[in-house]
Amino acid sequence: MKIYITRQIPEPALKILRDRGYEVTVGDGIRPPTKKEIIKALRKKQYDGVITLLTDPIDGDVFDAVPSAKIFANYAVGYNNIDVKEATKRGITVTNTAGNFSHTVGEHTIALLLSLASNVVRGDRFTRAGKYRGWDPMLFIGTDLPGKTFGIIGAGRIGASAAKMAHRGFGMKVMYTDIVQNEELENECGARRVNTIEELLKESDAVSLHVPLLDSTHHLINEKRLSLMKRTAYLINTSRGQVIDEKALVKALKEDQIAGAALDVYEFEPKITRGLARLQNVVLTPHIASSTVEARSEMSKIVAENVISLLEKGVALNKVNN
Ligand code: NAD
Repeated sequence: MKIYITRQIPEPALKILRDRGYEVTVGDGIRPPTKKEIIKALRKKQYDGVITLLTDPIDGDVFDAVPSAKIFANYAVGYNNIDVKEATKRGITVTNTAGNFSHTVGEHTIALLLSLASNVVRGDRFTRAGKYRGWDPMLFIGTDLPGKTFGIIGAGRIGASAAKMAHRGFGMKVMYTDIVQNEELENECGARRVNTIEELLKESDAVSLHVPLLDSTHHLINEKRLSLMKRTAYLINTSRGQVIDEKALVKALKEDQIAGAALDVYEFEPKITRGLARLQNVVLTPHIASSTVEARSEMSKIVAENVISLLEKGVALNKVNN
């Protein structure tokens, strides 16, 4: 079996596939390849499967370049970079790496929340800049978390994981909105499900986004909805950048309509929306919420298992096509 991986990923997948006798070719770029570059690489051999990254734009033109491929296995939980409808039409299986590491992204979400509430990043910038002149009772006054409301939009694997940490670790109340009920979260954390995003935005002290990027979630957070949030509230996004209208977010932050925002993902990734990086009340991380040794190794194992299971047994694990 011949497998193409568009860029270097952690070792486990390569070892698992090569140990089974698979021929694995890895794209040698450091930056994300363009669609043209992916097509050029795929035309070189009759690959049976392709392992893609969330930065790879995969559509009909790419499928045309490698008609022998039965599976496009995305090395990510999100798969909005792949035209899944087109893949389904052609009988190509698309898989993701959802697995036992949702807590990793949950932990990063909590790290972002704490960075805002305790002024960790702001304080670090200030101290490094040589501005610290001695203890000051008025310096960087943050916010306590116990008793505050953590509002989750999308209480799936990651949203629920972050909510449990906020509740068990910091005594936060949990509120959520989702198109499906999460009974386990309600039972374990006394989480309250609300019917509308508007209600959640009005009542939450921190709002955290955990929906997949879909037509229905594009710009879910827009100017009107931001205006409903408390002036003291924080917004956290570890889902996908386009879930927020970032131009509206910059305006809301500049006008102190909300207290702060922490983002791991960006609407025009890797470009950062004009004005965002200049604001002091934001924390920005470079899409690293799942970047731990444990999680990335797990993802690498899952992606290899997806390929092997489909090609050898015809069984699609983690399939995302309908
Ligand atoms: P999941 O499928 O378990 O949870 C998503 C939840 O969103 C589901 O409960 C679903 O019902 C809900 N939902 C869908 N549409 C909705 C809508 N319109 N309104 C309200 N709720 C809606 O997925 P997950 O594993 O929790 O991952 C969530 C997202 O996080 C992924 O799709 C991915 O884009 C992102 N992610 C980011 C990173 C990162 O590194 N920053 C890592 C992993 C995943």
